[in-house]
Amino acid sequence: MSERTIAAIATPLGEGSLGVIRISGEKALSVADKVFRSFSGKRLAELSGYSAAYGEIVDGERVIDDGVALVFKAPKSYTGEDVVEISIHGGRLILKEALRLILQNGAFLAEAGEFTKRAFLNGKLDLTKAESIMGLISANSQAELRLSRAAHIGGVSKKIDKIEADLVSADASIAAYSDYPDEDIEGLDYHNFLTMLESAKNEIEKMLSTYDAGRVLREGIETVIVGKPNVGKSTLMNMLSGAERSIVTDVAGTTRDVIEDTVTVGDITLRLADTAGIHNTSDTVESIGVKRAKDRIDIAELVLAVFDCTAPLDSNDISLLESVRDKNTIVIVNKTDLENMLDMSAFDGLRVVTISAKNNSGYDELCREIAEISGTANLNPDTAVLIGERQRTCADRALEAVNEAISALTGGQTMDAVGVCVDDALAALFELTGKRVTNEVTDEIFRKFCVGK
Ligand code: GDP
Repeated sequence: MSERTIAAIATPLGEGSLGVIRISGEKALSVADKVFRSFSGKRLAELSGYSAAYGEIVDGERVIDDGVALVFKAPKSYTGEDVVEISIHGGRLILKEALRLILQNGAFLAEAGEFTKRAFLNGKLDLTKAESIMGLISANSQAELRLSRAAHIGGVSKKIDKIEADLVSADASIAAYSDYPDEDIEGLDYHNFLTMLESAKNEIEKMLSTYDAGRVLREGIETVIVGKPNVGKSTLMNMLSGAERSIVTDVAGTTRDVIEDTVTVGDITLRLADTAGIHNTSDTVESIGVKRAKDRIDIAELVLAVFDCTAPLDSNDISLLESVRDKNTIVIVNKTDLENMLDMSAFDGLRVVTISAKNNSGYDELCREIAEISGTANLNPDTAVLIGERQRTCADRALEAVNEAISALTGGQTMDAVGVCVDDALAALFELTGKRVTNEVTDEIFRKFCVGK
């Protein structure tokens, strides 16, 4: 248990009906008792865990607010320590005053993520569960929420525990074999051993294979809408965002720069840029816009290339098509409420969706194509999906080490050599879940949290 008793405001500072201050540590109850006077006259320290008292936050005889104190006794609390959560009115000043009092009475202001870090250090949750918390809080879509929830209830931990268990028993067999190489040790049968390593490899590969789609669901996808002027890019953007954000006129070249917006299409958040049309222009301002549009294509993860179906493709359309052909592109044939004059064979080999942005038609089909191209269409958000670059790197390292173990085994190297690779794989997995992790890594993870979490 950590020495310092910490406190912080756990709810956002603003105007809310309730605001919560959390206190955690050995002195949580005694500190709270100095500032909280229950109407029943009972001290919080006398209460059992999971109980509540109604009372007042007092500064000497001055009452700051009335509210409810919830008492949790170690180890049955979020952090595993004694915890008091005081709910008072959610006013900025009230919360700050109450926190100031609590700090004056012996608590220290919690660092970013310190409550959750303590929960981790006290074995209340592993790193995969801890890292899911930010996703739970910041989820913008149902899918993202479900992904974070699945990780939070231990989906990722359970999968990794299973792989670890296999590798640990392999390690134990190798250790026994190395000690007594002449004895026939059960479980070190070559084929069993190889099967076990291959199953670990498959499981890690499976986890890694859903990473990108999970990342798209969590973080959204950098998207650019391109097309020559007047094909309907702004109208499409408005259809997607459901608001008149871009300027829509009949005059070609109205959208002069890159307009940023975030829209949720199905389960996916698109971080959208509606660009100036890509075309040859002598207008200086427009040509800057065209250059930016081209730059955006380079960094975009998804390109929505818009074409107007009411006229055959011209040289601008064709050069655009060539510049996006090798990208993750969806061709959008717009204005299909009007007569189609396009030779659709120009789009052979590309994903094509026909829409009428003006009439909002083709939206569902576009959602489906975006989900397909982003790999989220077949992702079940309730399954275990790795969260964040850190977890992916650990899983990559584990996979590499298991592959090396397999090569060492099949290449006839010594069991010691195989054992070293298995140990490396385990080290990577232990780091992923936090079973064995350096202080630096832990600090880095929790620094990303905000104060109060
Ligand atoms: P941008 O320059 O590519 O952004 O094109 P805009 O979105 O400004 O649209 C140019 C013109 O095409 C406007 O008059 C729009 O109303 C019209 N337009 C856009 N989408 C459609 C559509 O699906 N059908 C029809 N009939 N007109 C459209």
